[in-house]
Amino acid sequence: AIDFKWIRDNKDMVAANIKNRNSNANLELVLELYEKFLTLQKEVERLRAERNAVANKMKGKLEPSVRQALVEEGKNLKEGLLALEEDLVQLSDWLQLEAQCIPNSTHPDVPVGGEESSVVRKTVGSPKEFGFAVKDHLQLGKDLDLFDFDAAAEVSGSKFYYLKNEAVLLEMALVNWAIAQVSKRGFTPLITPEIVRSSVVDKCGFQPRGQTTQIYSIEGSDQCLIGTAEIPVGGIHMDSILSESVLPLKYVAYSHCFRTEAGAAGTATRGLYRVHQFSKVEMFVFCQPEDSDSYHEELIAIEEELFTSLGLHFKTLDMATGDLGAPAYRKFDVEAWMPGLGRYGEISSASNCTDYQSRRLGIRFRPSSPEGIPNSKKGKGASSPPTRFVHTLNATACAVPRMMVCLLENFQQEDGSVVVPEPLRPYMGGLDIISPK
Ligand code: AMP
Repeated sequence: AIDFKWIRDNKDMVAANIKNRNSNANLELVLELYEKFLTLQKEVERLRAERNAVANKMKGKLEPSVRQALVEEGKNLKEGLLALEEDLVQLSDWLQLEAQCIPNSTHPDVPVGGEESSVVRKTVGSPKEFGFAVKDHLQLGKDLDLFDFDAAAEVSGSKFYYLKNEAVLLEMALVNWAIAQVSKRGFTPLITPEIVRSSVVDKCGFQPRGQTTQIYSIEGSDQCLIGTAEIPVGGIHMDSILSESVLPLKYVAYSHCFRTEAGAAGTATRGLYRVHQFSKVEMFVFCQPEDSDSYHEELIAIEEELFTSLGLHFKTLDMATGDLGAPAYRKFDVEAWMPGLGRYGEISSASNCTDYQSRRLGIRFRPSSPEGIPNSKKGKGASSPPTRFVHTLNATACAVPRMMVCLLENFQQEDGSVVVPEPLRPYMGGLDIISPK
């Protein structure tokens, strides 16, 4: 349920937003297709009415010749209608496809510009001083026998990896710790399907068959591998009308993520930093529209608490328009210091997608009446308020590989060992140090 009328009525604003967000959406084409769609829809409705009128005329007693003429007319109308209905479906599909590229509107406080225009909201800690030459996570992994990239390259291809020894325990500890931390804040834990219909991927705003896809499609099927748990969690309530009393719905989901990383060449691609498959714990909220800004703050606050408790040094950024994905109204990223890489790297991202995904996924709620009386108790004939689209938000609790880069590089010691942060130790059987074998 993309609001084409709104897009048409706010054409200039939508065009400026598309420009600010560096989007390749073709607004002129969308508006042209929409007008064509409306005209064709009217024509189809007119033919349907005509066909019904002919059918009604045939109900009474008629001269055989008159009946014959009506039968003929009805047949012609039906054929014409079938052809136009087919055209209408095709036009509608095309319109939806083009319209999917139009990004969400943008929060008024979001800085306009490219990545360099993003604004730091908060800084926690400072880069750690080491009294020795630091290693990067690749060297640490080699010396501590934690990864095998060579075998993975042979078996799967580049940007895949085997985790070995304590790295396996560390991945599981990070996942369990993140789920425990977030679920104790009132989020329902989920493990999601990792293959979904491409229509759901589309509706979440990822355009799997489009140009900028990060999504692996499964040949010969209408399914894809998920790039993030945001997709199956967003879909969990699709095509439904929720009762207002169940909102907010908060989930914390564990899944693997699969990304083609098309166009990522040239950026930091070594080691675990950018890989095709990784584990992630993701937070997701469905809420009333009025509350999405405050849940966005709650999500970024949870991320900051989690990363602070691990002892990381990081910055939280309000991302500029050019760096927002199509569904996001506003996005806060966290960039943590990675001493081996010698720079900050993105470890998480929290987006308020307002009604962008819910409109496409068909997720509404029925507000309680203004007097607070549930609609079911108001008696017959009482009109219930119209349904509204929920807002959706998503945020990373723990993207495992980037977290491993941070932990290994920040907590390395001169003797080559790595200290396990205190909060993770209970999830690693009490292990407090990863030492050379
Ligand atoms: P995104 O869903 O794109 O906002 O990504 C969420 C988080 O997943 C990022 O902040 C990174 O920490 C992590 N991430 C994204 N892409 C990759 C990748 N290709 N390899 C490893 N980690 C990734």
